[in-house]
Amino acid sequence: MPKFKAYVVYMWKAFINLLFPRTCILCNTLLLPEETVACLACVHTLPGLELPAEQRALQQTFAGRLPVQHAYAWLHFRKGSVVQQLLHEAKYGGRPEIARWCGMHMGRRWKEQGSLPALDLVLPVPLHPRRLKERGFNQSEEIARGLCSVTGWELHTGNLVRSVYARSNTRRNRWARMQQMQNSFSLLQPAALEGKHILLLDDVLTTGATMEACAGQLCSASLQSFNVAALARTL
Ligand SMILES: [Zn+2]
Repeated sequence: MPKFKAYVVYMWKAFINLLFPRTCILCNTLLLPEETVACLACVHTLPGLELPAEQRALQQTFAGRLPVQHAYAWLHFRKGSVVQQLLHEAKYGGRPEIARWCGMHMGRRWKEQGSLPALDLVLPVPLHPRRLKERGFNQSEEIARGLCSVTGWELHTGNLVRSVYARSNTRRNRWARMQQMQNSFSLLQPAALEGKHILLLDDVLTTGATMEACAGQLCSASLQSFNVAALARTL
């Protein structure tokens, strides 16, 4: 019976696909009923950080700055790359399903690589409420949602919040920007994180300054372990 049901669902999807053809966001070929966002061929060509040395280098980014137990990033981020295209389309094209899809594939790959840690809660880097209203969704939260759907971890939002609106601050010097970032986040209920293994998740990791600012707040909770992950990392 379940097999028959799965067959009916597959045929229904194939039928809908015929009426409303969906195409791969990266190469424009028609998607199969079981594919969403991008075709499997494109997924395999995404520039993954596959080498253990690359993941170790990521861990090194935080050495002496944050007590990070595990650090993970799925993809290389370069300007003009397909990774940028995916994130741009999700963020500015108003398509949160792309971010969720990315999170799901990230989780699958992390699992396949055999380095998935045992964690309790995933905290996406929050947006300021004003930015959230403008955009309609938090990209990092949608990535976290996809990630949690394949790892079984729990999505934890509304506790770590962004209280300072990040204005365009290109005119400010590095020190002023850092000061502003350090005071941007607050943790509303530190007790909710007590004794938990938590993962802080961002979409793109560059210098780690945002993660550091969030971690400054998370330190006020008695965590069991602090872990960080990003969908992509600039190198
Ligand atoms: Zn494709």
